[in-house]
This record gives sequence, structure tokens and C-alpha cells, in this order.
Amino acid sequence: MVVIGGGIAGCSSALALAGRGVNVTLLEASNRLGGRYGSVKIPGLERQIDRTQNVFFRNFERFLQLLATCESRESVKLQKSTMLAFLEVDRGRISKIEAGSLPPPNHLSASFLNANFLGLGDKFSMQKAVQTIQATNEQQRRELDDLSFLQWLEDNSQSKRSISRFWNPISKLALNLDCSEASASSAIFLFKKALLGNASAFDVGCFTNDFTNAVSSNLRRTLADSDVEVHLSTPVTSLFRDSGVVTGVNTKNGFHAATVVIICTPISDTARLLTGSSASMASHEVAERLAKLGNTSQIGIHAFHEGPVLPEGIPFVICCDEPLIQMLFDRSGELDDGKRSGLPGHWICCPVSYADKYQEWDDELIKTEYQRVIEIAFPESPPLIDFHVVRINRFATAMRTGSQRDRPNPLDAGEGVILGGDWINIDWPSSLEASTRAGLVAAATYLRENRVRDFSDWKHDEKWPDWPNSAKKEDEDWRIWE
Ligand SMILES: Cc1cc2nc3c(=O)[nH]c(=O)nc-3n(C[C@H](O)[C@H](O)[C@H](O)COP(=O)(O)OP(=O)(O)OC[C@H]3O[C@@H](n4cnc5c(N)ncnc54)[C@H](O)[C@@H]3O)c2cc1C
Repeated sequence: MVVIGGGIAGCSSALALAGRGVNVTLLEASNRLGGRYGSVKIPGLERQIDRTQNVFFRNFERFLQLLATCESRESVKLQKSTMLAFLEVDRGRISKIEAGSLPPPNHLSASFLNANFLGLGDKFSMQKAVQTIQATNEQQRRELDDLSFLQWLEDNSQSKRSISRFWNPISKLALNLDCSEASASSAIFLFKKALLGNASAFDVGCFTNDFTNAVSSNLRRTLADSDVEVHLSTPVTSLFRDSGVVTGVNTKNGFHAATVVIICTPISDTARLLTGSSASMASHEVAERLAKLGNTSQIGIHAFHEGPVLPEGIPFVICCDEPLIQMLFDRSGELDDGKRSGLPGHWICCPVSYADKYQEWDDELIKTEYQRVIEIAFPESPPLIDFHVVRINRFATAMRTGSQRDRPNPLDAGEGVILGGDWINIDWPSSLEASTRAGLVAAATYLRENRVRDFSDWKHDEKWPDWPNSAKKEDEDWRIWE
């Protein structure tokens, strides 16, 4: 078995298969595991940092299982209960949306009623929209894929203010897309799974160190312990086909024979591997569908101040009505003691989602916008001493309107290839959770085809049976983000 791509999807697939006794070779083009998520060294900073703010949620159950199986629980913290803080920049006023004692989907209702950033009329129509989302079954939801989420919100009488202050920021955070472009099906999936699913589904999690230090080395060790043969700096240049079946892969270092190949590379690399003169029609068709999906970009803003900027007890805020400075995270507060060395000051990280139109902005312009927001909202904040901007072109696979039909199933390419990147047809938007699930779905597809017991009808909503539990509430093995 050859797995191509050592991102979260490829590592998940390789580990899951090795755990079932399959002989796996993992081929990764770059010199480290973890994929596009990894940390980078940026000029002017002494140490490597994550390119943007990284977050996950308690409902990322398969990803949390992966962290547990790699003994990376220590590297993350999760909110004890859901709390989202909305900042009205012009007033410097923060409204907290917190989980209360009512059962879901009403667990956030009480704090919504008291929140200042929305009017009473907004809240009543939002309550109706929530009920409609809850009542939408899976088939109805999937039928909404050609509709934009914005259109759905307008059809459901959502006010401009609730769209710009609530629905769109959450859409951007989770889909990396503005609601005018996001598929209503993907957005409704997200709201059902996250905010309305169960009372702890949207507890936010953060990393207590940079991702490469926190997770990549643990992935490497766990793969080695599981007898997966890992080849770094080994890009696969083409698939080797014999009589319409892929029987190996060519790399710049030589040929690897394989009875089965699992592809967990990004959409453009996958499309390249699936095309070529000897590739089948089905392979070419999948490549065309992937090309239609495309990517969306993000910008990571890293600002360093002489001291904390956000008020005590507020780990992050969503900035109302701010197109560029969408969120502010107290990244220094997330890091463990001893993991802040080499930083020039107190770190505020600001992820700019759906950032295509800001990619051309120069750093000074971005800095001016950042300072404007901070000076209005937090006039007493300590001075800014250092500022960096990181542009990320291929942040996520785009779940635009109509994207559902372009997400292939694992066996769609034929030729004995199994597809496993975060873009396969699993409903979850491109994310750490989607990539883990995709890798496991690819592994389960192989195990099912080979009639391994337990996998005849495994679904990705179920626990991966061989791995430890995800972070259930009150599970003391996981750290709390206070
Ligand atoms: C900077 C950044 C931050 C992010 N933050 C978050 C976050 O906070 N929360 C969240 O949920 N999601 C986040 N995402 C999205 C999430 O990281 C991705 O959805 C996920 O990592 C995709 O995993 P993957 O394994 O499918 O693909 P990738 O991570 O892209 O991995 C694919 C791997 O394949 C390798 N490869 C490519 N071509 C070849 C080849 N020919 N031969 C061999 N190897 C090859 C690549 O080098 C890469 O390592 C972030 C993305 C980025 C870029």
C-alpha cells in the first residue's frame, strides 16, 4: 500500500491501515509531516510560528482521536463550555454568547437575548432561522447546494445586521468563504453540526505550541512505532499504470510498487496525478471536477504589543462589521509557559478569512487597518512593537455553491486508486476534521474492499475503533482553555 501525501489526511490513513496490519509506505513531497497546516519561519522573528490562527472545535471528533493516538493531547486546550465574544469596535463593547442550561438547539438562546450587538427584531428572526435549520433533513439540505447561503438567509428574512454580525462571520470562520459564495448546503451542515448540534459541539480549541512542534514530530514518531515506512522529500511524479490499473508510483528517487494507492494530496496535485495519456476516462473526469472546486485564501496577521490587548477572560473576539480585521486572538494567552520565548511581545493573531481581495494589500495598509481597530476598540492598549503579515494562497478547498457534485467519492477515479484528501464527498468543509475523516474513509474503503471485519459499514461519524476517544466533556485527559 502506498499513501501519497503526509498531511493530516495521509497520516490518518496510513496510521489507521498500519493499525490493521497493512504494510504501508507514506510518500511526502516536503521535508516534514503535517501538510499545509505546518508552521513557518518568517523573516524578522527568531522562532517559527503558525502562519495564521489555528482553531478547532470539540465536534472535531476524529481529529481529536488522531491527536490522542499521537499522544498530542497536551498540545491543545478546549473551552470548558462554548463562549463566543462579539466586539462592537466603535463602542469597544463585547457581548458574550455562552452555552446555558437549556437543551440544544436553545442552549445559546438566553445569552443571545441579552446580547447587545443585535437588535430584538434580529434575534426573533434568527430564532426562526434556527428552527428552520433544525427542521431541515439531510436530503433537503443537500438539495440547497446550488443556492448561496446569503440567498438562503435573505429568503429566511434575516436582517442585514444579523447577516453581517453573526451568520457571515461564522461562515467565514468555518468555510473560509463569504456567505454570498458559500453553498447553503455546506453552511447549514456546519450550523447543524456545530452551533446547534449538542451543547458542547462548538467549544473552541487552540494549540499551546506551534503546530509543527506540537503535532508533526508526534505524527512522525507514531507512524514509525506503527511500522509505516515514511519517505520525506519524495514527491510522486506520476502513477504507474499497467493495463488500466495503477500498480505503483514514480518518484524523483525511484519506483515504488503498490497493490493499492491512496491519494491524499491537495486538489491541484491530485488532478495532475490523475491525468496523463494513459489515465482512464474516470480519472480524467475526477481531475476536472477537482479543478472546478478551487481554493480560497487566508491572511495571518501577527501583531506584537508591549502587553495584553484583550480584556481579562476574553481569549478571542469576533469584530462586528470589520471586513479585514475579522477576529482577534490572544495567541500569547494560548501558549504554554515556556513556549513564548523568541517572541518580540504579547502576541495578537488575527486570521483574515476569504482573503482573496486583500492579497494585494501591502503590509503597511494592513497595519494601518489593524491599528485603527485596536485604537478605537481598546484605546488603553499597550503600544504595538512588531507586526507581520503572512499570505496563504491555498488555505482551504472552496465549498462554493454547487461544490457538492464536484467532491468525488473514494473509488470514483477507478484504476485501483482510493481518494482521501479533505475534498472527498464527506460533507465536512475543508478543515482538520475533514482531512482526518477523509483519510479514515479512504482507509475504511480499503479495509471494506478487503473484507476486514468491523469495517463493512463503518461511517465517519463513528469513532475509529482502534484509536482512543475524542475529547468528551469532563474527560480529564484533555486540558481546559481557561
Ligand atoms: C496555514 C493554514 C492554517 C489552517 N488552519 C486551520 C485551522 O485552524 N483549523 C482547521 O480546521 N483547518 C485549518 N486549515 C485547513 C486544514 O489545515 C486543511 O484542511 C488540512 O490540513 C488539509 O489536510 P490534507 O491532508 O487533506 O492536505 P494537505 O495538508 O495539503 O496535505 C497534503 C500533503 O501532500 C503533499 N504532496 C503534494 N503533492 C505531492 C506529491 N506529488 N507527492 C507526495 N506528496 C505530495 C503535500 O506536501 C502535503 O504535505 C488550515 C490551512 C492552512 C493552510
